[in-house]
Amino acid sequence: MKIERVDLLRLVMPLRTPFRTSLGLELRRDILLLRVVTSEGEGWGECVALPEPGYSEEYLDGAAEVIRRFLLPAVAALGELTPAKAVAAMAGIPGHPMAKATVEMAVLDAWLRARHTSYAAHLGSVRDVVECGVSVGIADSIDELVAEVRDYVAQGYRRIKLKIEPGWDVEPVRAIREQFPDAELQVDANAAYTLGQARVLAELDAFDLLMLEQPLGAADLRDHATLARKLRTPICLDESITSARSAVEAISLGACAIVNIKAGRVGGYLEARRVHDVCSAHGIPVWCGGMLETGLGQAANLALASLPGFTLAADIAPSERYFETDVTPSITMQDGLIAVPRGPGLGLEPVPELLEEFTTEVVSFSEFG
Ligand code: MG
Repeated sequence: MKIERVDLLRLVMPLRTPFRTSLGLELRRDILLLRVVTSEGEGWGECVALPEPGYSEEYLDGAAEVIRRFLLPAVAALGELTPAKAVAAMAGIPGHPMAKATVEMAVLDAWLRARHTSYAAHLGSVRDVVECGVSVGIADSIDELVAEVRDYVAQGYRRIKLKIEPGWDVEPVRAIREQFPDAELQVDANAAYTLGQARVLAELDAFDLLMLEQPLGAADLRDHATLARKLRTPICLDESITSARSAVEAISLGACAIVNIKAGRVGGYLEARRVHDVCSAHGIPVWCGGMLETGLGQAANLALASLPGFTLAADIAPSERYFETDVTPSITMQDGLIAVPRGPGLGLEPVPELLEEFTTEVVSFSEFG
């Protein structure tokens, strides 16, 4: 398979629910899609980076630049390529996992479509549906939070995840636990605490949480291990896990009992599968995180989340959770479950009219480097 042309597309998609980032409330999702046209057909990739650094160092404009100037030339220089070769060619460039994941996702999609194989089958899927959880941001008041969670419970989500930060932790979690005594409940701190705040985090032990996700800084594996010994609630790592290797290190230090896997964070779906594999080998359950993806990213996430070690509900939501209109045929949820796509490659693609409606810029090129 040879790359003949690529299109980098920028889309702006209005959000139904405002999304809180480090810069404030976002009412739109800026999207970067990559279409690769190869000698064997097309493939689609989606970049999960947000418009600004915050979740990690990467941001959308930076990722677009790295893809265009460095990653695609490295992959195109291979001539005849496979997804594994493409990943190896990009490995010489340090960092930029979300940018690399975008290229891998598109190459893998094209390669699998040409072989009439689904992402799910290729990754090693063992189930047809994935259990969906919902991630609930910091609210303006506890009353608003309770109302929001009540709505999600009514919609059928199997698990509720509350974002917490210093000053918005014990009281909102207590309120939700009181209102929803049987709910599968977990919290995510996005690295907002330090080990010195262990006492307040220990108060969360009272609420029978499935896990406390990424309480401390991404680099603070030892502090997570120390914190884990002070808490009853299992610690899950998200931002800290950037590769299968880092997962092994975190597990052997005792820094986590659960791992959140996001392909973008670890450089692609092939590495995400390796993270799953090493976690399973160590008896560590995993689940699939989300980054407000369109149907393209959600389709790949559904395939990943159908692997055997993904035993906890995913942050994978139906299209209507975020978007008025998705750019692909809508992903729908029934009884808190979403079906894993089984068609070739991602199993779906953008609807041409919707793609045109949301696209604000296309850069195409067929000469690399
Ligand atoms: Mg998280």
